Amino acid sequence: MAGRNFLFVPGPTNVPDRVLRAMAVPMEDHRSSAFPALALECLNGLKAVFKTSQAAPFIFPSSGTGCWEAAVTNCLNPGDRILAANYGQFGFLWIDMCRRLGFEVEVLETEWGTGAPVDRYQAALEADRSHSIKAVLVCQNETATGVSSDVSAIRKALDAAKHPALLFVDAVSALASIDFRMDEWQVDVCVSGSQKGLMLPAGLGITCVSQKALAAAKSAKSRRCYFDYGDMVTTNASGYFPYTPSIPMLYGLRESLKMLAEEGLQNVLNRHTYLAGGVRAAVLDGWKLKLCATEPKWYSDTVSAVMVTEGTNGADIISRAFKRYNLALGAGLARMSGRLFRIGHLGDCNELMLMGALAGCEMAMVDCGMKIAPGSGITAAADYWRRNAPKQAASAK
Ligand code: PLP
Repeated sequence: MAGRNFLFVPGPTNVPDRVLRAMAVPMEDHRSSAFPALALECLNGLKAVFKTSQAAPFIFPSSGTGCWEAAVTNCLNPGDRILAANYGQFGFLWIDMCRRLGFEVEVLETEWGTGAPVDRYQAALEADRSHSIKAVLVCQNETATGVSSDVSAIRKALDAAKHPALLFVDAVSALASIDFRMDEWQVDVCVSGSQKGLMLPAGLGITCVSQKALAAAKSAKSRRCYFDYGDMVTTNASGYFPYTPSIPMLYGLRESLKMLAEEGLQNVLNRHTYLAGGVRAAVLDGWKLKLCATEPKWYSDTVSAVMVTEGTNGADIISRAFKRYNLALGAGLARMSGRLFRIGHLGDCNELMLMGALAGCEMAMVDCGMKIAPGSGITAAADYWRRNAPKQAASAK
């Protein structure tokens, strides 16, 4: 099909040309004396993105899922209890993985479209007098429903309950696009990946581990090998990896970290809030549709899950958008299958790129018989963006 594919799934996101160019490199010796400069620049640059001076970022040749597995197998003992909430497909998949790995998970079943139920987390922690819960899982941004949760409130719940459990956060679709604070929120493991806010292809599991979690990993008996934190700590200290790293991905990561620093991380976060505001104006004010997120406090600044009206299958809209307009939208997952479509608005993205996506959504919805006023979404988005300039933080280099 002529023209560019419009990629608006909530990851993988568009890779900036600068990053693509930086990745076009010949292979080199990953054990040479020159290699550590690249690796250490990436690892140090990630500290700023995770907002940590204390914790250790690790780069695994995997995706976010590998870092989920690394978190639980490095820090926990076989059969340990975990507290988690199920408010979307990704949170559910992490729970499912923990069970398949033999952990016992206490699940707070929660309405999809809402986020982390802080009071229920706190009640479960307070009820656990013997401190048998060893880890608490939270999905900061549930990509399946377009819901963001308040991680700092979960930290406060742990503190209020005086509970020593480790705090594991899935920030796969939040890192470098929604505010995340490793040190301030005393997160023990943050799990992320390369293909979303970091604007890279999929292929790197990017995670960050607190000193408390690293200490737990020293004695934790769960079996792991490829994802062992200890091997990473030992080799990363001198700028190497326990096995062959993806060298082009590291060059790409170095470039994307440079781009984030040049724009200023706070400006990047503000841009995401501003762009998301325009998309939500299109959905709510223009198209008069609902988001899956049930209340503004849950709205995600990286993905909007748009509920389709009765009698329409969201999958038809996605298929029409792709086949006719070369626009890729995210599907409804699991119990949301057919009920919604998702617009990713994260990573390397601006108003006019989103205008293309919103126009494509409108055309596909009208083609599929939804009663959408053509032009209503893009008009509402343009109006929002005209009235709201993105906040400028002073920190851009
Ligand atoms: N967690 C969230 C919130 C996600 O959105 C995703 C993927 O989209 C994952 C975990 C799984 O990550 P990956 O596909 O990188 O393994």
